[in-house]
Amino acid sequence: MPRRPDRATGRPPPFLPCEYCGGRAMPFKPANPNHRVLYRCRCGASVGTHPNGHPLGTLADEPLREARKEVHRRFDKLWTMRGGDYQSARRQAYRALRMAMSLSEARCHIGQFTVAQCEQAVALLETGVVQALMKAERRRRQRHPH
Ligand SMILES: [Zn+2]
Repeated sequence: MPRRPDRATGRPPPFLPCEYCGGRAMPFKPANPNHRVLYRCRCGASVGTHPNGHPLGTLADEPLREARKEVHRRFDKLWTMRGGDYQSARRQAYRALRMAMSLSEARCHIGQFTVAQCEQAVALLETGVVQALMKAERRRRQRHPH
C-alpha cells in the first residue's frame, strides 16, 4: 500500500454517522472469515475497511458504490497493466487524477468520492486526460531525474 497522508491509526471508530438516514453504521463481521469487516447502516449504506479495521472511505449507498466501482474499473487499469513497480505506478496515477480534478492529496481517494466526482473522474479517464497527464509527468521525470 502506498503511503497515505490520511492513513488512520489507533482504534477504528465505534460507528460512522450515516449521512443518508442520520443513523449509525456499525462494524459488521461477514460470515465468511475471508471477508473484511464492513461498516453497515440499517439503511443499506456501507463501506469496507483496511486490514487495521479503519474505514476505506466514506459510507456509500448502492448508487455511490456502483459509481465508485466504475471509476476503479477504469482507473485501476492505469497502474495494474504497466507491470513493474505497482506502488509507484499507483502513486503516479493518483497524482494525475488529482491534478485533473484539482483535488488535494488528502481528498483524492476514490473511496471518498461523491457520485458527481465519480462521474467527473470517469469522463476524465474516458477522454484520456488523466492518461495524458501521466505521460507528461513520465517524460518530465526522464528529462529531469529527481
Ligand atoms: Zn443510514
